Amino acid sequence: MRLAILGGPGAGKGTQAQLLCDRLGIPWISTGEIFRQGIKNNTELGRKAAPYVEKGELVPDPIAIEFIRDRLLQSDAAKGWLLDGYPRTAFQAEELDFLLDDLGQQLDRAIWIDVDKKELKRRSMARARSDDNPDAIARRLEAFYQRTIPILDYYEPRNKLLKVDGDRPIEEVHRDVISGLDCDAS
Ligand code: AMP
Repeated sequence: MRLAILGGPGAGKGTQAQLLCDRLGIPWISTGEIFRQGIKNNTELGRKAAPYVEKGELVPDPIAIEFIRDRLLQSDAAKGWLLDGYPRTAFQAEELDFLLDDLGQQLDRAIWIDVDKKELKRRSMARARSDDNPDAIARRLEAFYQRTIPILDYYEPRNKLLKVDGDRPIEEVHRDVISGLDCDAS
């Protein structure tokens, strides 16, 4: 399976992504997590991403796109993957399709974890991630509403979208994702 999981900051993308990857046996590719690790370990990618991640702004498309291209070429990604937090803009969604065309692959579904703004804000405030501070949280929410929501208009007409109500307990959201993907729901 080749999947992308999308949603606002605090929607629970990471949690759902890990559950799904364990269940389906596919690699979890989280751009945010990889950027944060890169910053912590002072890698070249981390240094490029740091000024944006720390402020809660989107890393420029060329950096994110180049990273995904390299990552999807690695051997563990040959049979499937779950992208968490990528694509983040309609441009990235289009670029992902170009890249997959080149690789002779296709995205199966884009999973949208739907959570309303008030709840996203509450959850973001309640966690303690290295890039969570009130200014960064506000900017991430703004980036989400301005740049990420338009991705819905990209995937909807292509029949790729699986929308799930994310304002429920983790296990229930997971069950909905599994049944929406039409894979083993036991
Ligand atoms: P996340 O862990 O998905 O909330 O991402 C944390 C941060 O990483 C975001 O606030 C952005 O700065 C950056 N980021 C993650 N994914 C992307 C992406 N696809 N495009 C641009 N920036 C990203």
